[in-house]
Amino acid sequence: METSIIAVLIMKIDLHSHTYYSDGVLSPYDLVQRALAQELNVLAVTDHDTILGVAPALEAAQAHALKIIPGIEMSCEWKGQTIHMLGLNINLNHALFSKKLEEMMNLRQDRAHQISKKLLKFGIPGIEEGLARQVKGVPGRLHFARYLAEKGYASTPGKAFRQFMARGKPGYVPVQWVSLQEAAELIQQAGGIPVIAHPRRYDLSLKRLTIMLQEFKEAGGVGIEVANSNQNKSDQLLLLNLARQLNLAISIGSDFHEPCAYNELGKARFLLPLEGYQFVSDLL
Ligand code: AMP
Ligand code: MN
Ligand code: MN
Ligand code: MN
Repeated sequence: METSIIAVLIMKIDLHSHTYYSDGVLSPYDLVQRALAQELNVLAVTDHDTILGVAPALEAAQAHALKIIPGIEMSCEWKGQTIHMLGLNINLNHALFSKKLEEMMNLRQDRAHQISKKLLKFGIPGIEEGLARQVKGVPGRLHFARYLAEKGYASTPGKAFRQFMARGKPGYVPVQWVSLQEAAELIQQAGGIPVIAHPRRYDLSLKRLTIMLQEFKEAGGVGIEVANSNQNKSDQLLLLNLARQLNLAISIGSDFHEPCAYNELGKARFLLPLEGYQFVSDLL
């Protein structure tokens, strides 16, 4: 265990990142170049509901001392809440998993089409073209938010997201994602390790968060992301306590989407003593 703590403190590990195959902006090649510039040792490529970025990232990192973890960030549903589940060390050639990802691509494309129609009715033209220009893999709400900001409907993509794409707003269209249990099962079937991403970002009370994590654990869930770019000390303390209580491993990830002032690959940090915890990075 002591070696693990030393490894986590010395090695630069980032188990959560995006490419332009979902709603990140960098190609897998550019993501790898950036990870090398940041002197990362381990990087998981975890696009939303697709693994399209993994093979090119593996290829780009081949001649370098950077270990790429084939991953995904699966959208799933628990009691009406969308939950993001990372799957780490996914087998890229698993037939059932690939079929599920095809279905998720269809779900996202159908939703994108419906969102475009809703926004057109709302008086915003050109959405389909704006999207086609950006999307290289799965379409997501952030693509719409970027287009809306580019056209001046909001000053930043973040504001456009809150104003148009959040639940209850004019561009919101619900999706029937797979259940939390089904996502955990699919990831395990494909040889992956299920980890709940950014557990403090859901609209769940501590009590409901605890129940969700309990059900996740019962479904074969392994870890929770404790160190994330936005998680402060008090969030980390709460999550460490939950990890101890539920016997879950702890993970670290920046959730990097694009070069910006407030996030960077490898930026997430554990901020508290970690003796006695199991690290997701040791299971990969
Ligand atoms: P989707 O999976 O397409 O429904 O979109 C979810 C994604 O939107 C998240 O992974 C974030 O990247 C992004 N997102 C969520 N909330 C915001 C926000 N307030 N501002 C900017 N992007 C956001
Ligand atoms: Mn995203
Ligand atoms: Mn997420
Ligand atoms: Mn993410």
